[in-house]
Amino acid sequence: MCRSGDLSLVLDLGSTPLANAFVSPERAAEPEQRFALETLRCARCGLLQLSVVVRPDILFRHYLYASSASAPLLEHFAGLAQEVRDRFARAGSVVVEFGSNDGVLLRALRDRGLRPLGVEPATNLASVANATGLETWNEFFGPDVAQRIAADRGRAAVVLANNVLAHIDDVRAIAAALDALLETDGVFVAEVPYLGDLIAHVEYDTIYHEHLSYFAVHPLTELFASAGLELFDVRRIPIHGGSIRMFVGRAARRPRSADLERLLEDEARTGLLDASTYADFATQVARSRDALREMLGRLRSERRRVAALGATAKGNTLLNYCGIGTELVEFVADTTPFKQGLLTPGMHIPVRPEGALLEERPDYAVMLAWNYADAIVRKHAPYLSAGGHFIHPIPTARVYA
Ligand SMILES: [Zn+2]
Repeated sequence: MCRSGDLSLVLDLGSTPLANAFVSPERAAEPEQRFALETLRCARCGLLQLSVVVRPDILFRHYLYASSASAPLLEHFAGLAQEVRDRFARAGSVVVEFGSNDGVLLRALRDRGLRPLGVEPATNLASVANATGLETWNEFFGPDVAQRIAADRGRAAVVLANNVLAHIDDVRAIAAALDALLETDGVFVAEVPYLGDLIAHVEYDTIYHEHLSYFAVHPLTELFASAGLELFDVRRIPIHGGSIRMFVGRAARRPRSADLERLLEDEARTGLLDASTYADFATQVARSRDALREMLGRLRSERRRVAALGATAKGNTLLNYCGIGTELVEFVADTTPFKQGLLTPGMHIPVRPEGALLEERPDYAVMLAWNYADAIVRKHAPYLSAGGHFIHPIPTARVYA
């Protein structure tokens, strides 16, 4: 991001298949395509990043994670749309969202009197949005698209990006695109998973090939400054295991918030800028793996039945790194129809419909979507009352409910 080549290895999670490359049982014997899953840290700007960039058209042209399928996300996006409307937009303002998925936020913006336009590279998701009248250009966002939007619609009061900056290799080009697209007092509002939470809670399973960058606030302030922009406000939000919502305008147009100053100080004080923090992190990740393996091994030796819930991308990092296969976890229950009947990438654990949890009633189920732990506990109250238990796998495996 800062163009330095002074990178050093922080964590090696091995060579793993892509997190959404589920395998049909007939092809279980065939070798899977694997990519190194290693994080490097830049000594100059501190950005934590992957060593390998998988071609974006492989990862994002057909994308299987539909935002509107997640009830907690619907509520989250309603709140975001309201904040955008109240703080930075007027009735009828042009608002652009890139990485707009199936249009869940576009709809919330339109409902509040704004004129949203989505940009989404996944053809399947862009079609869903367009079919419901939420205009979406089926492209990868960048300077060229930004210029075409500005020419076609006028400049945007607000540009939004949720959980997409980390997917993009050349973020400097994105900063340049924002410069081309935003009104003079326009604002870029973006959410990214926060590196401070990843480190503090040992959320190593959020590392997979789609996530090229793991952001702290310090490197982001430098990035935007390099394009004549300024990160002027930031807030920590609880979603996805801990994220930040950042606000970026043109340089010197708005005062820097107290929240921003405080978070920058926190990052310095808590060691987020120190190389030694990352050496400790790698040690904690190995300990986390050992604790989970030990717990599952003990349960199996006591003849307990163990399954998992949520065939998530992060779950596949966790299963592959910890080496957890069917000898420890019988099946993974998941609501997504296309994953059911397939095997998880790498570890080949069968994926079954979510109802399997109550039908089979395993003694324990590992929550592979621990970021929704409380919602899971509420939803699966019948499994719990039938004697089941949930295991929260990180930072140290424990029985959660
Ligand atoms: Zn750097």
